[in-house]
Amino acid sequence: MSGAPTPLLTALLIDGELVQGQGLGEPIINPASGEVLTQIAEASSEQVESAIVAAHRAFAGWSRTTPQQRSNILLGIADAIEKQADYLARLESLNCGTPLHLARQDDLSATVDVFRFFAGAVRCQTGQLSGEYLPGYTSMVRRDPIGVVASIAPWNYPLMMAAWKIAPALAAGNTLVFKPSEHTPLSILALAPVLKDLLPRGVINILCGGGEGVGSHLVSHPKVRMVSLTGDIVTGQKILQAASKTLKRTHLELGGKAPVIVCNDADLQAVVEGVRAYGYYNAGQDCTAACRIYAQAGIHDKLVADLGAAVSSLRFAGKRDADNELGPLISTRQRDRVASFVERALGQPHIERVTGAAVHSGAGFYYQPTLLAGCKQNDEIVQREVFGPVVTVTRFDELEQAVDWANDSEYGLASSVWTQNLDKAMQVASRLQYGCTWINSHFMLASEMPHGGLKRSGYGKDLSSDSLQDYSVVRHIMARHGQHL
Ligand code: NAD
Repeated sequence: MSGAPTPLLTALLIDGELVQGQGLGEPIINPASGEVLTQIAEASSEQVESAIVAAHRAFAGWSRTTPQQRSNILLGIADAIEKQADYLARLESLNCGTPLHLARQDDLSATVDVFRFFAGAVRCQTGQLSGEYLPGYTSMVRRDPIGVVASIAPWNYPLMMAAWKIAPALAAGNTLVFKPSEHTPLSILALAPVLKDLLPRGVINILCGGGEGVGSHLVSHPKVRMVSLTGDIVTGQKILQAASKTLKRTHLELGGKAPVIVCNDADLQAVVEGVRAYGYYNAGQDCTAACRIYAQAGIHDKLVADLGAAVSSLRFAGKRDADNELGPLISTRQRDRVASFVERALGQPHIERVTGAAVHSGAGFYYQPTLLAGCKQNDEIVQREVFGPVVTVTRFDELEQAVDWANDSEYGLASSVWTQNLDKAMQVASRLQYGCTWINSHFMLASEMPHGGLKRSGYGKDLSSDSLQDYSVVRHIMARHGQHL
């Protein structure tokens, strides 16, 4: 990266003020180099309390604004992000190691689009008809905001995850306390001055800090009415336990292990290009990553050979940003976790290394894009989420078997089926227990379409007007008026 240094803002946003955290400092690291970029002090317990109280106070006013007023503010936020897109992309790239051109082209445009989508969606919601469902009474249904939402985000796409959480919650009329991952706070802190200027005091508060400290304080606070988490299953379980004490609503997006069913009649080149792109995008740190291939016997060997060649051509850690197709893992801990999954897998005599399977020798927390073949359904590497650049291939004979194996998973977020026979594709899609199934594709999201899981991938939808429903509550108003006329 060249040019002037990128300013790093470190202030939290609490009750309309930009203030430094008063808790412990957390080093923020560039995973592409290992360099410490800055230190950010997390929120003290008193600051967490102030943020929640501010959001609670602001709710009375914000919840009574009209959809049009909220929509205009969301459009203002989208414009401000667009104006600063180069700067925000640089921060995302510094903090996550994402190649800058990808952060700019993918993350920033998706982030802007999410704010614009919810600005529109909140103005054209539909619902049940009002009417006389009992003689002499008129019933109406309202959709009202819930209250203070604690939004807790992961590190894989910091700004985009923030948009997925902030935009629908604000659009629906809630106030927020937002906590980014302790590893990746830079982009949302850079946006804090914009949010401070555009939103009334206290409507959004941004706190940095770890899960066990700031996170669990938020989750257990009685004034917080809803918790929205994108993170690990174990974190989701802890949050559910804590939230049960005050019966908070929860919205949980908890990882995935996407099956990719490749039939004999699939377009092999399309499969190879699709998995090369979407099994390894963001170094596989993506809950929808195309990471668990089931290949039918007739196409299996050619697929393994062609995909192996394609994966070994993936470019990373090069000097020229535009050449790089993926970045590093977020931390040494995550890289070592990925390495230990692969090591255990290769300890099984039936698993074959097709390519990769080693830590990259240069600077940064890179792991080589890896393809493993010969994997069996019960292998740990097939069952557990690796969250790294590792794809497995398992051979199958009958399609029935592949559908059973695909569904035999704790996860239920995303899946795909590849065949040139549309009847077959539709039948498989109808039987997969996943929040999303792509046909002859993988990974594509649209702001208008719901994203979310089944089983231990969690529940609740991000994106789409379904998300507006998750961040609001249906209420029945019934007026008694008799039938005198
Ligand atoms: P994580 O669960 O470790 O952390 C997520 C967030 O939760 C962080 O902000 C963390 O500080 C906070 N947290 C941790 N413990 C907490 C606690 N006890 N109380 C309150 N907050 C707590 O996850 P991560 O490592 O940041 O992200 C990777 C995980 O997220 C992967 O499992 C991935 O699949 C999942 N993910 C899911 C989706 C989806 O849409 N389903 C999207 C992206 C990431």
